[in-house]
Amino acid sequence: MTSATPRDLDAIRDEARRVASTVVDPEIPVISIADLGILRDVVVAGDHVEVVITPTYTGCPAMNMIKAEIEQALAEAHLEPVTVRTVLSPAWTTDWITEKGRQQLHDYGIAPPVRGQGRTSLFAVARVACPRCGSHDTTQIAPFGSTACKALWRCDSCLEPFDYFKCH
Ligand SMILES: [Zn+2]
Repeated sequence: MTSATPRDLDAIRDEARRVASTVVDPEIPVISIADLGILRDVVVAGDHVEVVITPTYTGCPAMNMIKAEIEQALAEAHLEPVTVRTVLSPAWTTDWITEKGRQQLHDYGIAPPVRGQGRTSLFAVARVACPRCGSHDTTQIAPFGSTACKALWRCDSCLEPFDYFKCH
């Protein structure tokens, strides 16, 4: 890669970004790290590819798995060597989830975070729509759901419990 021309480097970066974007969140296997807003940047630095990620929250146990999967995906595409750098600032916010990602969360049965609540309110939550029937007649049952990123809610219309992806 050291003898690559600038145009080659652009092509390598685009390809590396495309490959890195195919990695999914192990906790929500339908949504890519790109649509989740975890994948911040891909650069070709010197003789290696550098992938920059921001964890959804500090100490998220899925991050080591995501890091390993990025390294493996790029290695399989012969885009080595690769380093994965974790950047904690600015902190990840649910506002970074793309429109496609929000739809995928909804289709997976997880209520997407209420828009515009990122960083502002961990506890004060606006009305959360049930991902199954769309009713806003919902109640939080527990502050933590199947993972620490989610809260457990129940729909008072269809009576089904569901995960809400918490804003932060
Ligand atoms: Zn419902």
